[in-house]
Amino acid sequence: MNLHEYQGKEILQNNDVPIQRGKVASSVSEAISVANELKKFNKGVFVIKAQVHAGGRGKGGGIKLAKNISEVEEVSDKILGMKLVTPQTTSKGKLVRKVLIAEDVYYPGESETKEFYVSILLDRGKARNIIVYSKEGGMDIEQVSEESPHLIFKEFIDPRLGIQSFQLRNIAFNLGLSGEAFKEMTLFIKNLYKAYINSDASLFEINPVLKTSDNKIIAVDCKVSIDDNSIFRQKELSEKRDLDEENPVEVEAKSFGLSYVDLDGNVGCMVNGAGLAMATMDLIKHAGGEPANFLDVGGTADPKRVEAGFRIILKDPNVKAILVNIFGGIVRCDRVAEGIVSVFKKMGDEINVPIIVRLEGTNSKIAKEIIDSSGFNVISAKGFQEAAIKVQQNI
Ligand code: GDP
Ligand code: MN
Repeated sequence: MNLHEYQGKEILQNNDVPIQRGKVASSVSEAISVANELKKFNKGVFVIKAQVHAGGRGKGGGIKLAKNISEVEEVSDKILGMKLVTPQTTSKGKLVRKVLIAEDVYYPGESETKEFYVSILLDRGKARNIIVYSKEGGMDIEQVSEESPHLIFKEFIDPRLGIQSFQLRNIAFNLGLSGEAFKEMTLFIKNLYKAYINSDASLFEINPVLKTSDNKIIAVDCKVSIDDNSIFRQKELSEKRDLDEENPVEVEAKSFGLSYVDLDGNVGCMVNGAGLAMATMDLIKHAGGEPANFLDVGGTADPKRVEAGFRIILKDPNVKAILVNIFGGIVRCDRVAEGIVSVFKKMGDEINVPIIVRLEGTNSKIAKEIIDSSGFNVISAKGFQEAAIKVQQNI
């Protein structure tokens, strides 16, 4: 589950990671009252930031400075309701429903401001948390990692030990800091790691981390992903979910307990088990097709889920055929076949593309007979490959 910047910053604040003052607003009048409130604390320069689930907002015109209240009005009016196109969105862009109004922290002072990059994520291969960081923060970190990867540092954290003091010092040192800023950075990283652990996150990306001209270290941006497997014990965070930002079909699939990911091809797939689903997609490609989705109906593949699966796949107008690939281990193939037939009886004309079914495992012979004698437009296939080829022949 991804969070908005303003929501990620709430977590930061609760874990003592410094952020700039600010508040979210969903209308121009709200934006003005937030700015008036902030004006009491600083010089009255604000940054207005579009809140959408996509990075690169600065490049797309979703981050703007406002030097006074009337500019706050003008800028927030422009950003709210816009379809923001960034390097990370489609060309259609994302509708901006909220803006974050924050104090400008890039003020001039005795020393220069500096933008760093810091992220914490999970390295599954090494079974460690990893802190990725660089002196070259700001808007072009992707370019830095491509062109000069030696400027990107990594620190691996053993989750059983937690982050150690020497690692904090190592990071601050590699970022070229000294004095007050060095100390602030070690505290910043320590508390950021705490925020990452406490919220069961799979990612905390802060780009930029700003060293202000008076040597404070502040999280200016914040991108957070929470591990979906931990949502059940993160009740407070689960309420931050913004369904407006998610693919509606994927949301619906989740409500039926299905894992569904929308893709660009024309062969719908319904499979039990994530590994088999991946292998099925490979096979479709191998036979010359393109998968329209990833869909794991789960180990039991009961009729209710199979029906929900069909309905969800058929919502995609690109789908020209559906490949059902079920391995009957725990579930018996004849049960699945009966399920498919009953779905056909129920859905009738709604199913308007050929369905190719490959059932393997317990009672697969009986299952094939049930499918073949059903009288519906269901084509049974024996092996993996035969199924993929039959799909191509029937498109
Ligand atoms: P992103 O483009 O979606 O990653 O959004 P960011 O929050 O990272 O903002 C993009 C860029 O806008 C930053 O790299 C800064 O250069 C600039 N920026 C963000 N906040 C401020 C601010 O308070 N003051 C000024 N002057 N610039 C800011
Ligand atoms: Mn950023």
